[in-house]
Amino acid sequence: MTISDNIIQVRQQISLAAQRAGRDPAGITLLAASKMNDASRIREAFAAGITVFGENRVQEMLEKNALGAYDGAHLHFIGHLQKNKARQIVGIAELIHSVDSTALLALIAQLAQKKGIVQDVLLEVNIGGEASKSGFSPEEVPSALDFCEELSGVHVRGLMAIPPVCSDLQEIRPYFAQMQQLFVDIGGKKYDNSTMDFLSMGMSHDFSVAVEYGSNIIRIGSGIFGPRQYNLSADHTQQAQ
Ligand SMILES: *Cc1c(COP(=O)(O)O)cnc(C)c1O
Repeated sequence: MTISDNIIQVRQQISLAAQRAGRDPAGITLLAASKMNDASRIREAFAAGITVFGENRVQEMLEKNALGAYDGAHLHFIGHLQKNKARQIVGIAELIHSVDSTALLALIAQLAQKKGIVQDVLLEVNIGGEASKSGFSPEEVPSALDFCEELSGVHVRGLMAIPPVCSDLQEIRPYFAQMQQLFVDIGGKKYDNSTMDFLSMGMSHDFSVAVEYGSNIIRIGSGIFGPRQYNLSADHTQQAQ
């Protein structure tokens, strides 16, 4: 299977899932999670119609960006962002999916203001309450949005989540359902600097289910590029999910 074959198959599955859910597949963005794939493979995906790429390591993203890997496409940051690296991606990544603390929100806003831009972000929600994952608890999200009302350098565009690993796909439904409920509830309220446009959830193994719960950005890595080669670099291995 080539990257192009994989993309066709993923798009077909998105369409089927959207049909089952009574949704228009055109409203669902397919983001290619391109970590550990080099610039030429990213160009291959772009040639096959991918218009949004997501990276989860700052250094890797900047290196590939310098090679023109994402030229003509939208570039998102989807991984855990350390505060000391935020400066390098504000204004480079169009959307940062993984903002997980008010301190990081304040920092991004400050960096964006310095650059004279407004940075679009999503709030990451630790929907499974897992110690191993970062993110706001669902209960913390409203106060984080209150906090953002004072931050003119950020625009919160929605929510992102990575639910716990479940052996059975049925077990993942309650997490996606909770995210959808939170997204809808918050969307019904008015916050300065926030609009609930994007719900980013669903990866290679569970995107069909995520589509049933209103996800409108699905992040696909191995389903497009094939299994990641974890032996390429020990450094990458530690950071990859
Ligand atoms: C790698 C990654 C994905 C894609 O994972 P696959 O299981 O390979 O589809 C999605 N989201 C994030 C945050 C990732 O790091």
